[in-house]
Amino acid sequence: MATAVITGSARGIGAAIAQRLAKDGFDIALNDISEKSFENNDIVEKIKALGVKCQVYIADVSDSAQVEETVKKIKEDFGTIDVLVNNAGITRDGLLARMSEENYDLVIAVNQKSVFNMMKNVAPIMMKQRSGRIINMSSVAGVHGNAGQFNYSASKAAIIGMTKSASKELGSRGINVNAIAPGFIKTPMTDQLTDQQKKAILDLISMRRYGEVEEIAGVVSFLAGPDSSYVTGQVIEISGGLSM
Ligand code: NAD
Repeated sequence: MATAVITGSARGIGAAIAQRLAKDGFDIALNDISEKSFENNDIVEKIKALGVKCQVYIADVSDSAQVEETVKKIKEDFGTIDVLVNNAGITRDGLLARMSEENYDLVIAVNQKSVFNMMKNVAPIMMKQRSGRIINMSSVAGVHGNAGQFNYSASKAAIIGMTKSASKELGSRGINVNAIAPGFIKTPMTDQLTDQQKKAILDLISMRRYGEVEEIAGVVSFLAGPDSSYVTGQVIEISGGLSM
């Protein structure tokens, strides 16, 4: 059985991706930052009910030592790592002139360094297997920029550079590396926005609606599956035609 690892998968987009990949037949390694993330949460039961193996690995993906330990453990428990979805992410929004160094560093560590940490430890496993799929969660903010998201856009733009460079390094080893750039998807992350901010974004979306987590998970399923065997180094925007 093939194994998929999804970071930040207790809720939101990550949880939807985990459920979709379980439906596709992957065994699932879930990750999130604390046990608390899985309290009052039936994600593990939902995945197991689909007839696949599912285990939780608590780790802060911005911490290289925790990631090294966790990836080792997943490999021991599952035998292979076939799909890696770097999904964990946070926002600490604010205008550049008022942004604290602390919030800049935190967002870069959680959103960007985590991708380095995960890929550095998972890529050698996939290289030995001579196969693998890596899917990195960028954002339209990383492609187009966004006022009030200087730190977040920087981290998400970096993920695009990392995706393209890794696709060039790893392509000859049978590993495809792609990025997804979601627009506005309904999750606890976007719930934090004010009604005024939500309305302003809606006016910019051609489809005049926000995205659903399942609409991201469907594209991840394609990138993790056999139909995307010749797709690598790409950034797929899933935004309902959001023009920023
Ligand atoms: P969310 O806040 O609902 O979920 C993110 C998950 O990541 C949470 O469960 C959180 O606990 C976990 N997490 C945070 N820091 C972590 C860490 N250091 N280590 C491990 N886990 C950690 O967010 P979401 O909306 O589901 O977003 C998922 C990804 O998609 C993020 O990378 C986000 O930037 C990206 N994205 C979301 C949207 C959107 O509209 N929701 C748009 C573009 C990109």
